[in-house]
Amino acid sequence: NKSVYTFGGGANNNDDARSRDKTIVGGKGANLAEMAGIGLPVPPGFTITTEECVSYLAGGSDFSAELRADVATALTHIESAVGKSFGNNADPLLVSVRSGARVSMPGMMDTVLNLGLNDETVKGLAATSGDERFAWDSYRRFIQMYSDVVLGLDHGAFEEALEIAKEDKGYFSDTEMDAGDWKALVAEYETIVERELGRPFPQDVTEQLWGAIAAVFDSWDSDRAKVYRRLNDIPGDWGTAVNVQAMVFGNMGETSATGVAFTRDPATGERAYFGEWLVNAQGEDVVAGIRTPQYLTKKARETANAKPLSMEEAMPVAYGELAAVFELLEKHYKDMQDIEFTVERGKLWMLQTRSGKRTAKAALKMAVDMVAEGLIDEATAIRRVDPMALDQLLHPTLDPKAPRDILTKGLPASPGAAAGAIVLDADTAERRAERGEAVILVRVETSPEDIHGMHAAKGILTARGGMTSHAAVVARGMGRPCVSGASAVHIDLAARTLRIGNRDLKEGDLITLDGATGDVMAGEVPTIEPELVGDFGTLMTWADKHRRMKVRTNAETPADCQMARQFGAEGIGLCRTEHMFFDEARITAVRQMILADNEAGRREALTKLLPEQRQDFHKIFEVMTGLPVTIRLLDPPLHEFLPHGDAEFEEVAQASGYGVEHLRRRAAELHEFNPMLGHRGCRLGVTYPEIYEMQARAIFEAACDVAGQGEAIVPEIMVPLVGSKRELDILKDLIDRVAAEVFAEKGRTLDYIVGTMIELPRAALMAGEIAESGAFFSFGTNDLTQTTLGVSRDDSARFLAQYVEKGIYQRDPFVSLDIEGVGQLVSLAAERGRATRPDIKLGICGEHGGDPASIAFCETVGLDYVSASPYRVPIARLAAAQAAL
Ligand code: ADP
Ligand code: MG
Ligand code: MG
Repeated sequence: NKSVYTFGGGANNNDDARSRDKTIVGGKGANLAEMAGIGLPVPPGFTITTEECVSYLAGGSDFSAELRADVATALTHIESAVGKSFGNNADPLLVSVRSGARVSMPGMMDTVLNLGLNDETVKGLAATSGDERFAWDSYRRFIQMYSDVVLGLDHGAFEEALEIAKEDKGYFSDTEMDAGDWKALVAEYETIVERELGRPFPQDVTEQLWGAIAAVFDSWDSDRAKVYRRLNDIPGDWGTAVNVQAMVFGNMGETSATGVAFTRDPATGERAYFGEWLVNAQGEDVVAGIRTPQYLTKKARETANAKPLSMEEAMPVAYGELAAVFELLEKHYKDMQDIEFTVERGKLWMLQTRSGKRTAKAALKMAVDMVAEGLIDEATAIRRVDPMALDQLLHPTLDPKAPRDILTKGLPASPGAAAGAIVLDADTAERRAERGEAVILVRVETSPEDIHGMHAAKGILTARGGMTSHAAVVARGMGRPCVSGASAVHIDLAARTLRIGNRDLKEGDLITLDGATGDVMAGEVPTIEPELVGDFGTLMTWADKHRRMKVRTNAETPADCQMARQFGAEGIGLCRTEHMFFDEARITAVRQMILADNEAGRREALTKLLPEQRQDFHKIFEVMTGLPVTIRLLDPPLHEFLPHGDAEFEEVAQASGYGVEHLRRRAAELHEFNPMLGHRGCRLGVTYPEIYEMQARAIFEAACDVAGQGEAIVPEIMVPLVGSKRELDILKDLIDRVAAEVFAEKGRTLDYIVGTMIELPRAALMAGEIAESGAFFSFGTNDLTQTTLGVSRDDSARFLAQYVEKGIYQRDPFVSLDIEGVGQLVSLAAERGRATRPDIKLGICGEHGGDPASIAFCETVGLDYVSASPYRVPIARLAAAQAAL
């Protein structure tokens, strides 16, 4: 396998990066080669593979002799295509050095532009371009970028020098700097470098090139990149490719420009070109917010009521070519593209294309629109939408009727509503969010160092930056509402205060953002629940058509059941009865039951609970008519219900007639050292059968009553924490006996089934035998993960993050099923259960039932359904469809 592939400039097929996929040449390299391959104007270049990065990092940061030779050869490809040579004083080739992992990663190294300039070549550039100002502008950009990115010098000193130079001359903007000014600044910059570095700025262009390549490779292991990978589940062993590409210049005067664009609106999905551009500028200027970028289309400029001409108006010819490229790229990739381009003296060059990041709303609209346009089919549309992104749409939006105390308006950079306390830096955001507080991160602008804080925040507000600024792009990717470029926001970081317009605020004050309109509001504005209509509804209908597994919900209150039904739940997979015991009105009776000395005492307390439980089930059955309802009998260790303070003991004493001292002694006896493996689950039913008797009675009485109203009810009674068939037999006998009693009393019978959770490794191993008694299995993968890994979910936070970082687990096994390990038990139990009882019903009810990767696994095992929390039901419907395709 080769280490370097070329693109553009008529690369021959052998070497062409187009022959390798993005796992080898990275996303940027693959798409540059692809664009060149379909005849678009792409400056020629070459790509060093991700494999080279991995071996460089593993091999102690050394370049092999082969790589050096291959790069030298590839460089001649660029030289002959462009007709200039690298390091040549008379007519120098300049290149950019760009990172490019498999997926785009904001944490990676910043690009170095204009590489190949030094004190001699800059003169050649001035001569060949006939533009001295341009040449020195390019050189000062290069020194600053290279010093910052490769040499690790603080860019503050350079910015300061530029500020002083402008002040001295009385200039307001960089555009006023002339050739002599830039030349003087370059001398200044070189002095700074020599002072800070202890040696001069590297003049040898080959040294410059390898320095930049090493910096790209090293940036794969930077803290920024690691944080981004952890948040986005990107494996640490992918590595990044390096792209070296001939420079084209957007800073060659008024007929040159640079810009970024999307073929459709990434926030709304609207079919309209969307982007920003700057005349006489280089790539980084648009995103960095140094100058305010202008609108791409006339329509967008008019809508925003902005003065500076759009590209469509200022450069109609280049714009026309660009629009044609947009159309071509969408047809080619059959997806919305995010594009970078540069115009050099009127000629258009393409510098990047990729499938654009988009909000969930836009993803849905585009997927549905593209099916209508005949660009993609339904199955592709289903695959296009990230199920987890739907989460953004399943949460409340601002009530349009609620009054808004508007502080200012910024750009609607990422839609959604968010309210929270103002925080002014990322670390504070993270700290306060960890305490459960809703926070809004407010920054002048964000940078990759802020990613952890953006993730922790409910929303992001920036004073600077456009719709394609760092904040906007990252926020859209994360699904965080964002308002950017709100220039009325003035932050005083030292005082931890801010002024918005004429209002003074401080860190901790509440504000609300509307990412769809750009409104920034004082206080917390009320919200309304979402509805699954329009494009969402359409995509869900398609998903339902293509999926095999059913989707149920984990819910125990009538309100949750109702919401889950609206979200499309096809039954309840897990109704946890203990949640009903915590109710304030009942907890005393529950405590009385637990603390009773004997069966008689327990029965007395249970008599009080029976009507309450019956009422619970009655309401749930009414909401869920026609659908299966799985009810789990009492599961948690009893100590979870014990009274704490004196007042609580006093209450139980009054209810039970026992003295407080007696109750305290009894509570101490119930203490367990390891309650998760203690007296819980079906062990309660085996030792205190009266508890399960009461619950079974409540279920059957309620079911008979609701059936009496003419509704179809099929209770599925689930016994938790079973490890042997005998346990299940004992409890099934009990349930059957209670059912017969209730049916006799009520004068009617109904169908019901009894099954078990599989949440102990022994249960999975003995599944063949357990299936003789159980009509269904529900994989309780929360406990099954705990018991298989021997890791306590409640205590794992302390070490799991490090485990994931070190690659011991790819993801948190309580969030995404450990398919390798726990997955084996699931598939083995499914197989053994089916061997005994071919029609056994199989489902999953752990947290994993709402996790797309785990859902995909459930499809491969052939489970009948997954069960997820109400808000995750639509996510599970889509994920189940993707899994089935
Ligand atoms: P990022 O991944 O951060 O966007 P890029 O490598 O895409 O980094 O480049 C940053 C900016 O520099 C972009 O605007 C890009 O278009 C511009 N750029 C990169 N290479 C060249 C080049 N060869 N000529 C002109 N501009 C370039
Ligand atoms: Mg880019
Ligand atoms: Mg459990």
